[in-house]
Amino acid sequence: MAVRLRSDLAKLPPYRAGRRPVPGPDGRRVKLSSNENPFPPLPSVVDAIAAAAAEVRQYPDPASTRLIGAISEFFALPPERIAVGTGAVALVTNLALAAAGPGDEIVYAWRSFEAYPIVSVLAGATPVQVPLTDAGRHDLRAMAAAVNDRTRLVFLCSPNNPTGPTLSREEVSTFLDAVPDELLVVLDEAYAEFVRDPSAVSGMRDFLERPNVVVLRSFSKAYGLAGLRVGYAVGPTDVIEVLRSVGLPFGVTDIATAAVETSLLHADELADRVDDVVAERERVVTELISIGYEVPATEANFYWLPLGGASAEFTAECEALGITVRPFADEGVRVTIGATEDNDLVLEVARRFAP
Ligand SMILES: *Cc1c(COP(=O)(O)O)cnc(C)c1O
Repeated sequence: MAVRLRSDLAKLPPYRAGRRPVPGPDGRRVKLSSNENPFPPLPSVVDAIAAAAAEVRQYPDPASTRLIGAISEFFALPPERIAVGTGAVALVTNLALAAAGPGDEIVYAWRSFEAYPIVSVLAGATPVQVPLTDAGRHDLRAMAAAVNDRTRLVFLCSPNNPTGPTLSREEVSTFLDAVPDELLVVLDEAYAEFVRDPSAVSGMRDFLERPNVVVLRSFSKAYGLAGLRVGYAVGPTDVIEVLRSVGLPFGVTDIATAAVETSLLHADELADRVDDVVAERERVVTELISIGYEVPATEANFYWLPLGGASAEFTAECEALGITVRPFADEGVRVTIGATEDNDLVLEVARRFAP
């Protein structure tokens, strides 16, 4: 007889991470499947990591005071409004656990970040998925209509992973006015630093006065620290307090803290790199549109190719060149912006599949 475990976990969808690349004929081995930063860490960040490595005998500060202090100073926000976690994904999880349980509902757009269905099931809650529009955008009206008295949490993802569009400040404001103030709304802005559209929402700028909005940010994408696992949440102090209490102690390491502190000191240099990625994104997307693709208006460090049934074949052709991309069976392929040469190789494959 099998050991008794939670039967509802059978509903857990697997998290499909970007595949590890296999070398192409020229030895190329490039991962454009996980939205990582194409640049290596700054030498000063590597030095800070090495120095912190000498102290790993010790547990990190369970309250992450130094890290929260650095983020608080950088954004001129009170520390009690900030929580940190082992990646924004840990905060996504802890917010679901803090807000919802059996009998409750969690609303999010679909397709969107793959962690949302997983954490909804983990919390024991019922996921409610509201389809994206044809342009790969959230349908905020339908999402507001999906909210009922069982809803405990709404995830909004801007820019949306995997399609790329942002939500506008205007439409988020209308949405927030339409739902109760007691309903937790999480604005997942893991790609915020890549956004250039002035009408796009920035939860940090626009909605921190709301009593029910929590904004999530990550050091994995723009800051190039995906391997160290650090993200943060900014929100109302009462929600942040509960969020902190749900997090496991000792999660964020001193190595990660040192890397973030040093990265924030060099934020300008890192922002220049983000500018390069954005310029490359504009170049690649313009080219894709000119060859006939309907690419959703991406504000992130990736783009979406609506390849439908050709998604697997497109992915295989990229892999044959040593480049992994992220297919979503029969829907499309998400491709991270990488180095120019690698983006050009994907463009060559894209030309062969042009609609
Ligand atoms: C990458 C990503 C995250 C989480 O990133 P972490 O590495 O856990 O900080 C959160 N939300 C979205 C939409 C993402 O794409």
